[in-house]
Amino acid sequence: MKLFQCQVCDNVLYFENRTCERCKHRLAYVPELGTLSALEPAAGDTWTALAAPDRPGRLCANADYEACNWLVAPGSEQTFCVACRHNGTIPNVSDPPQRAAWQQIEVAKHRLFYTLLRWNLPLKTRTEDPAHGLLFDFLSDPPETQGPKVLTGHDNGLITIALVEADDVEREKRRKGMGEPYRTLIGHFRHEIGHHYWDVLVRDGGKLDACRAVFGDDDQDYGTALQRHYAEGAPPDWQEHFVSTYATAHPWEDFAETWAHYLHIVDTLEMASAFGLEVKPRLGGSQDLAVRVDFDPYGAAGIQPIIDAWLPFVFAMNSVNRAMGNRDLYPFVLSPRVIRKLGFIHDLVHGQI
Ligand SMILES: [Zn+2]
Ligand SMILES: [Zn+2]
Ligand SMILES: [Zn+2]
Repeated sequence: MKLFQCQVCDNVLYFENRTCERCKHRLAYVPELGTLSALEPAAGDTWTALAAPDRPGRLCANADYEACNWLVAPGSEQTFCVACRHNGTIPNVSDPPQRAAWQQIEVAKHRLFYTLLRWNLPLKTRTEDPAHGLLFDFLSDPPETQGPKVLTGHDNGLITIALVEADDVEREKRRKGMGEPYRTLIGHFRHEIGHHYWDVLVRDGGKLDACRAVFGDDDQDYGTALQRHYAEGAPPDWQEHFVSTYATAHPWEDFAETWAHYLHIVDTLEMASAFGLEVKPRLGGSQDLAVRVDFDPYGAAGIQPIIDAWLPFVFAMNSVNRAMGNRDLYPFVLSPRVIRKLGFIHDLVHGQI
């Protein structure tokens, strides 16, 4: 994620801000420019973004629910922004807890779209591609007696996110129950979209053989593989080959987990770069841990510069978190095999396979 600044008063802004705290200007993200902009009211229901003053646009309709702060492209007839037009079922907005949960989910979803747009990845709505277009359903569980709980997952472009995952207590309970070191809403989005882009870029992109050479043969029965994973757990040496225990379940899950980690790493490093972070430990001897994050990881030439910056940066950030009594920022180990898999995702995203 980049760092944004108010065009009126230079205040530094978060991606989610709707108003500048200093000058009180309304703010919106302009996806075509990849920037957050202060707004001035223009004709009718349009606003002038000071970052692009010649192109007034409307706010996404989800701004009414404080669920979106993006502008619809100027001249577009669309009601929703480029991120929200992929929404299918949304929660009941007249129910305050559901609405609050949805707002949390939208924060994570918009950060995902920031990344997808940075790489210009193919994005088709369900209207544009009725069979495989990208669609999100945000579903709340039925009452206890009426059927099974909602499962977060992906099926042919349809990504379902269980609304209850926005509940910190419930999500933490699930994290502990599954023995996971990390569970977040943005993690769910980055994982599930990995399945979608496996369909789009690997299966439909003619990259199956190249992908199988790295992630293994995905021809094995998925249902049986998952059952085996839940019955037996991960093999003892999983860390040498996989980024997480869940990645061991099936090559599709390995791909989605590795994809999610690649997104975690690139976006977090971009934030570090925006702040000009430098790690320079006051230690004698080897300076393997010294790094200055001063490049754009979204445009990196290969996986190696990303990893070379990530490892020292994460060691520093994990240490900072431990000093504060928090869990590690990034509680994972990247083995050489996993780095090779991340390299495949890098090349795939950049069209280099
Ligand atoms: Zn301002
Ligand atoms: Zn929107
Ligand atoms: Zn999955």
